[in-house]
Amino acid sequence: MSNATLDRAVKEIADEMMKRTDRGEVASYIPELARIDVNSFGLVVVDTNGHVAAAGDADTPFSIQSISKVFTLTLALGMIGDRLWERVGREPSGSPFNSIVQLERERGIPRNPFINAGAIAVTDAILSGHQPKETLGEILRFLQFLSGDSSITIDDAVAASEQRTGFRNAALANYMKSFGVLTNPVDFTLGVYFHHCAIAMSCRQLALAGRFLAHSGRNPSTGFLVVQPERARRINAIMMTCGHYDGSGEFAYRVGLPGKSGVGGGILAIAPGKASIAVWSPGLDANGNSELGRAALEILSKRLGWSIFGA
Ligand code: GLN
Repeated sequence: MSNATLDRAVKEIADEMMKRTDRGEVASYIPELARIDVNSFGLVVVDTNGHVAAAGDADTPFSIQSISKVFTLTLALGMIGDRLWERVGREPSGSPFNSIVQLERERGIPRNPFINAGAIAVTDAILSGHQPKETLGEILRFLQFLSGDSSITIDDAVAASEQRTGFRNAALANYMKSFGVLTNPVDFTLGVYFHHCAIAMSCRQLALAGRFLAHSGRNPSTGFLVVQPERARRINAIMMTCGHYDGSGEFAYRVGLPGKSGVGGGILAIAPGKASIAVWSPGLDANGNSELGRAALEILSKRLGWSIFGA
């Protein structure tokens, strides 16, 4: 596909999305996120050759929230490998991202690394043997390295806002601690979790950071192998089955790409062998996934024939 074809697709989809009025609701349970303009919209696609097609608010940093869980999972697997799966499962939950019910039934072992409980268990695994500050620094540096952009930072106001109001996450963490699934002090693990969710990135930075997942673990521009091909394939599989909570089936049905959403309204989607895509529209649907983000990806994947399930 020529650069011009990709540029045109991205621009036309962004133009269409910017006009839409059915934008969903901005997350308000984290007070600081409620201030974001629901009319923001950004879309960036980075293809195999490193061509960047960008439109709308492509360079405005937003709160990546649960998209950070893709990168903490990658780090945790790098640190402890398959032992991670003793603490967290790999099955879709069919439940909201902050559900407590399932955790009790399954004796403190979260269903997958992308629901909040699972991501908190993953954060706990990365934290072991380190100070919270070191761990946060490592997560941040990993994202800066992947996107080739050292300006990425944590939005401390968002982290503080969630820390003040994150009672449900505290409940999940304490519950897991009672089963011995968490090994660090709950406050330390939660502190790191809230702060990595509060990392702010633009669509451009996020799409660049996701490139290794689209290219069998390697950044095709630098040749650097971030993870083995098998690991990239497996992370994509978990994104496909669990990346949108109880909206994961619908996302697979409509978009057909591995993807991970965040309540900041971002989605990172991977077209294996083709492209890394980031979209941002802060209005959410009932499952907490970006309403127009999904709509934009649905049109893009159809138009370019990128669904992994066939054209
Ligand atoms: N930090 C948010 C929370 O824990 C992340 C949720 C999300 O993005 N779905 O509630």
